[in-house]
Amino acid sequence: MALVNAKDMLTKAKAGHYAVGQFNINNLEWTKSILLTAQEMNSPVILGVSEGAGKYMCGFKTVADMVKAMIDELKITVPVALHLDHGSYDGAKACIEAGFSSIMFDGSHYPIDENIAKTKELIDICEEKGLSLEAEVGSIGGEEDGVIGAGECADPDECKMIADLGVTMLAAGIGNIHGKYPENWAGLSFETLAAIQEKTGTMPLVLHGGTGIPADMIKKAIDLGVSKINVNTECQLAFQEATRKYIEADKDLEGKGFDPRKLLAPGCEAIKETVREKIELFGSKDKA
Ligand SMILES: [Zn+2]
Repeated sequence: MALVNAKDMLTKAKAGHYAVGQFNINNLEWTKSILLTAQEMNSPVILGVSEGAGKYMCGFKTVADMVKAMIDELKITVPVALHLDHGSYDGAKACIEAGFSSIMFDGSHYPIDENIAKTKELIDICEEKGLSLEAEVGSIGGEEDGVIGAGECADPDECKMIADLGVTMLAAGIGNIHGKYPENWAGLSFETLAAIQEKTGTMPLVLHGGTGIPADMIKKAIDLGVSKINVNTECQLAFQEATRKYIEADKDLEGKGFDPRKLLAPGCEAIKETVREKIELFGSKDKA
């Protein structure tokens, strides 16, 4: 199946009260593990690529071509969207050019008027090319690829303004942050989420920073209109832990344990397990 945009899968998710996971990719192993698991679970999936990860993988064109070829060679039939995560204005244009099927334009650091103007321009381009577009209102805290957000709750009226421009999905800060949550984290603001949902109606809402949010909060957020949840750090931690165990158990010193295909295998299995758990939790299993 060719890449699809995220509109259809998220409209269905919102109507069906479940969420589709966005799992960020960093390399071939990550991509393969996530695609195979989505296929195994019969779930739609969104592959997220930050600008930093795009650079690391030799550019957006390399990423788009790798993902398309992998979908073909692995015979992936579930819907897959390739999505730029926290894109700059220039990054968004580069990904559109490279063949991504979905774009996030993170204009949250611009004054609202400038965010609106730039978002509008990108909506027109995406519409013409059949891509989906995610916009962000209210910066999401923590650090993602060098972009540091203060962590705040979005203004529901600003959310409505951006939603009305015709974006496909909307990321709004509701007390969520990227990376690991600190001990003293106050939790998600369901009051803010409910107010945003009321103003934006059927617009699929996006929850960033999905790592470490307790399952009951995730479920409640989905009930309140979240239909896309971003997972990044959790796969990284799962990969790291499994790789550490392999090395600490001296497995790399046994036989051909140094072979990268063996060395990276436990980490890949750990990513698969994480993705499986998230697909179950988000409710997108068998929704392909
Ligand atoms: Zn994010």
